[in-house]
Amino acid sequence: MSEQNRILKGIPASPGIVIGRARVLSDLGDFRASYRLLFTEEEKIAEIKRFESAVDQAHADLTRLKEKIAAEFPEHTHLLELHLLILKDQMLYDEPLRFIKESNLNAEWALYRAFERVRELFNRIEDPYIKGRIQDVESVYRRLLGNLSGKSSGRYYYSSEPLILVARDLSPAETSQMAGSKVLGFITERGGKTSHTAIMAQSLEIPAVVGLDNATREIIPGDELILDGLTGRVILSPGNGVIKKYRARKQEFEAFKDAVTRSSSAPAVTLDGHPVQVLANIELPEEVQLAQKYGADGVGLYRTEFLYMRQPRMPTEAELFEDYRRVVEAMQPRQVTIRTLDIGGDKFISRLEYAPEMNPALGLRAIRFCLREQEIFRTQLRAILRASAFGQVRIMFPLISSVQEMRTARELLQAAAQELAEQDIPFDPNLPVGAMIEVPAAVTLCRVLAREADFFSIGTNDLIQYALAIDRGNKMVASMYQPLHPAVMHMIQQVVAAGREAGIPVAMCGEMAGDPLHIPILLGLGVDELSMNAMAIPVIKSVIRQFNLDEAREMAAKALDMVTVEEINDFASQKMSERFPEIFRFGSALAGIQ
Ligand code: PEP
Ligand code: MG
Repeated sequence: MSEQNRILKGIPASPGIVIGRARVLSDLGDFRASYRLLFTEEEKIAEIKRFESAVDQAHADLTRLKEKIAAEFPEHTHLLELHLLILKDQMLYDEPLRFIKESNLNAEWALYRAFERVRELFNRIEDPYIKGRIQDVESVYRRLLGNLSGKSSGRYYYSSEPLILVARDLSPAETSQMAGSKVLGFITERGGKTSHTAIMAQSLEIPAVVGLDNATREIIPGDELILDGLTGRVILSPGNGVIKKYRARKQEFEAFKDAVTRSSSAPAVTLDGHPVQVLANIELPEEVQLAQKYGADGVGLYRTEFLYMRQPRMPTEAELFEDYRRVVEAMQPRQVTIRTLDIGGDKFISRLEYAPEMNPALGLRAIRFCLREQEIFRTQLRAILRASAFGQVRIMFPLISSVQEMRTARELLQAAAQELAEQDIPFDPNLPVGAMIEVPAAVTLCRVLAREADFFSIGTNDLIQYALAIDRGNKMVASMYQPLHPAVMHMIQQVVAAGREAGIPVAMCGEMAGDPLHIPILLGLGVDELSMNAMAIPVIKSVIRQFNLDEAREMAAKALDMVTVEEINDFASQKMSERFPEIFRFGSALAGIQ
């Protein structure tokens, strides 16, 4: 048994508190022991056969799993489809075969070497979401290794007793099997907030803590545990007093969540009658269900990178159109804002040949990439336009840094629309076209840009990164990444003023918009729409409903007068925790911002 009340700290990935016994999933072991060189042609033929039958077996298992999941959770089958694709991807299929044939490696070794190459490529990717997809590749790799060793991986558990799973890593496919099972929650050593596994846990509402170093070594099988998905804490062998405290906290959290969720489909209107649009950010069409469940007034940011990453070739116009149409139809009559491809040279890996960039955040990404690769852009623009015939669609361009870029993007959109018109394919001719404001140059130029756009959407994730020169993915400077920095506040104020002057709405879709702490200040600054991770919507709506716009304006004005971020943070935290004590105990966890 572990020392009583020992606390481990990981990253909160899915909110909720559970108490139960640990089941530690062991890894597949070290396969290096089975590495050997092949000396004869016969040996090579035998290894090729062994590798191919491991792949066939994995294919059969994944297909069976997919059918099983399809009945209950059709929205999650794409992950298994992704694993089926990875199984036959050249990096994980052709490469090991080549290593067997040309380098005389046995199947395990060849597979390991191929996987390490994929891992290296993913390591160079800067976007945490896409980087996190290495988990899916690794899950397939482990499955193949398990098949090669003849051991079942033993991870596809069907537990009869309630338990908390502890694993080095869990793939989204494994996580999806927890639905309706006795798994109360899970803890992994790997993973981050934006990993697919975390997204899956949230959509299944299974509390989870990820990124907890050495969890499989520190936690003893059968130990009692408290898993706190609100703070990322895991308490080993809790004493009675601690259990009692956490039971009470769990009840309070559940009551709080029920209360905010119950009213979340109603509009968010301030005490003095000003309606505020609260929308969802989504990455996958499947997330529309979450957006609806949590009462989104629409989709304020549909990140469209995923379809480009989940398969080893470029998506076709028909595939893109299908994805967009599904989202647009499901959200009808609410609005869906589709952002065009925000991807950089390094993210394409093998498909497009660009030299690796020294500094990809300042490189060929987002709209710059699309203006360079106009065929790829045209395909996406046509698909978005076609989807606009099925509901309320807006389009927006990421990383706009000049008027010329906005004009060229609009011209290309116009040309795509013209083509569709000539082909008698329906689309919305009045589709609003927005500019994302996420580069300081766009802020400086916002008054002129406002004449070129039908709306603005402030992407604070990047705007803060570029304005404060803080790499958004770098842990070393994470504490300097401050949304309430006076420079950021003044930029927001400037963008809102330009929007007002031109009569166009100003939205915000970076993580800043989903943190309850910032809401009154953002309302006071005049931001019209807030778009966020769907789980944060109920809390944000509830904050809006308890505020007066005048009071919010007063707060914003005071904050704008302050000259240090510390002052602004203290001011906002003090005011908000006095006004909303329960939200500040739970709400920030729901918003996933701890
Ligand atoms: C942003 O930069 O704030 C944004 C919403 O875009 P992304 O996080 O996808 O870069
Ligand atoms: Mg951005």
